[in-house]
Parts: sequence; C-alpha cells; structure tokens
Amino acid sequence: MCDASLQSYTSFRIGGPAEVLVEPADVDDLCRVVAQARAEKIPIFVVGGTNLLVRDGGIRGMVISLGKFKGIRQEPDHVLYAEGGVGMPTLIGYAVRRSLAGLEWGAGIPGTVAGCVVMNAGTRLGEMKDSVKAVRMIDPRGRVVDISAADIPFSYRRAHLPRGIVAGVWLQLRPGDHEQIEKTVKEYLQYRKDTQPLTLPSAGCVFKNPPQDSAGRLVEAAGLKGARIGDAQVSEKHANFMVNVGHARAEDVLALIKNVRAAVKKKSGVTLELELKVVGQA
Ligand SMILES: Cc1cc2nc3c(=O)[nH]c(=O)nc-3n(C[C@H](O)[C@H](O)[C@H](O)COP(=O)(O)OP(=O)(O)OC[C@H]3O[C@@H](n4cnc5c(N)ncnc54)[C@H](O)[C@@H]3O)c2cc1C
Repeated sequence: MCDASLQSYTSFRIGGPAEVLVEPADVDDLCRVVAQARAEKIPIFVVGGTNLLVRDGGIRGMVISLGKFKGIRQEPDHVLYAEGGVGMPTLIGYAVRRSLAGLEWGAGIPGTVAGCVVMNAGTRLGEMKDSVKAVRMIDPRGRVVDISAADIPFSYRRAHLPRGIVAGVWLQLRPGDHEQIEKTVKEYLQYRKDTQPLTLPSAGCVFKNPPQDSAGRLVEAAGLKGARIGDAQVSEKHANFMVNVGHARAEDVLALIKNVRAAVKKKSGVTLELELKVVGQA
C-alpha cells in the first residue's frame, strides 16, 4: 500500500503516511520482503504502534506491520511461542487460560510482543526480560536467526538486539494457580484504569523515569498537568502521559514535550529522557 495513513496503526492517532506499508503474510514472506528492500536499498521501519509518535511528514521507505503474525502455541516445559504481531493482552489472556504464570506484570500493556521485547517493556511488577527465553529474528539479509535471551543484553526500556526484525518470541512461564493469576491481572488492569487516561489516544509514558524518581511526579511538580498545545495535552490523570484530545499534530506534541522538559529542568534540575519513540519526517 502506498501513502498509507499511519494514524490507524498508532495508539496516538497522530502522524503522516508511510511511503509504502507492507503486511507480510508469514515468516517466508517477511524474509522475501526484507531481502528485496535490501537489494533496492529501501529503509525499513517496523511498526507496532503503541510507543510511537510519527511526525507529520510521515515515514519514507517501507513500513512493515506484523498485523498478520498472530499465532501462539504452547511448547513443552511451560514455554509459549508467540508470533511477533501478537498483542500483549491476547498473549496474557492465552497464558491465564492455561494457568501459566509469569506475564502478569504486563497486564494492560497494549504493544505487540515483538515491540515489548525491543523496548524491554515493563512495569513496577516486572519486565519483558524476566519472561523471554529466546527471540526469532529476520536479519537485514532476510535470513531467520534465533537468539537465546542469555545472549541479549537488556537495560531499562531497551533490548540490545542485533539489527533486524523480531518475528517471534519464546516465553518461559511456570505453572500457577489459575485464580491467583487471574486476580493479579484483574487488579493490575483496574489500577491502570484508575490511574491512566485509557479513554483517550496516547502512546503511554512519554518520559523514562529518572533513577529513584518518577517522571510523572516531576512533570506535576513543574505545574504542567493539563498543559495543552493545540489538541495535545499533558494528561490530567497521569502527568507522564500526553493525550490527543482531538486532531493533535505531531508538531503540537513535540512543542509540548519541549515545554515540559524545560519546565522540569528549571524546577527540579532533571533532564527528562524520552521513552516515546519519535520517528519520520517533519
Ligand atoms: C495506554 C498505554 C499504556 C502503556 N503502558 C506501558 C507500560 O506499562 N510499560 C511499558 O513499558 N510500555 C507501556 N506502553 C508503551 C508500549 O505499549 C510499549 O513500549 C511497547 O513495548 C511498544 O510495543 P509496540 O509493538 O507498540 O512497538 P512500537 O511502539 O511500534 O515500537 C517501539 C520500537 O520497537 C520497534 N519494533 C516494533 N516491532 C518490532 C519488530 N517486530 N522488530 C523490530 N523492531 C520492532 C519499533 O521500530 C520502535 O523502534 C503503554 C502504551 C500505551 C498506549
């Protein structure tokens, strides 16, 4: 698809189009697409869509969505294999139904399992690195490479993976008490509902938490809860979320980010680092 709007592919509902948008049917197809893009020197960007701000000029080159990579299977020893496009909520539902514990920390994270590995997504209960056993990647030449988690350095909101596309993930879970797992997941979903602006488009937390502190607390202390530029607003409910209250443009969000960082720096002396990925052309 050419000049495809990315707004419906991002939870923020903001941003320009993809020059070319491709949804491969399966791993073989993905390998072919990657090899062809390399031969034609076309840059590739993979979109899951829930931690992204796509600039208003859109993304040049090829954008790949793993929207058709939706398979999950159970393997021996409480291991699940999930294709890269499986959403975390679906994966967690699958694990809960089989009384497999270990993913409860991720309840309510809307990203794909692949995006969650790349970002080492996490909460105060745990993070992706606690659950990943191995990752199936497609390297830049279009070859399948399986990498053990032991060979992947993980840090705060980042997995240091080789270049390529995550096509699938093996997760090491453990047998658990069905009621207890379900209870933990439900409690955590309720906690999110109570504390996060889930009814408005957003891309989750905008800033990384500085060591021993919370970005939300710092933004609130700087007096910016509710601050607005155009239709981009610092959430009234959670100051580390920015929400799209109508037809926000990426430039509105970027201007708001600039203001927030300056105010926090002035008030607390802390330079906030972006957790949000900003991609594409202005
Ligand atoms: C309401 C809400 C709540 C959230 N809560 C949390 C939370 O509690 N904790 C947390 O950590 N995050 C949270 N997030 C952010 C987001 O869900 C995570 O960062 C998630 O890991 C992003 O996954 P994604 O599939 O959407 O990837 P994207 O946001 O699309 O991409 C993130 C990066 O990964 C790359 N990428 C994506 N897929 C692949 C792939 N298959 N192969 C190679 N690279 C890839 C992208 O190119 C990009 O660089 C929240 C977001 C929202 C909207």
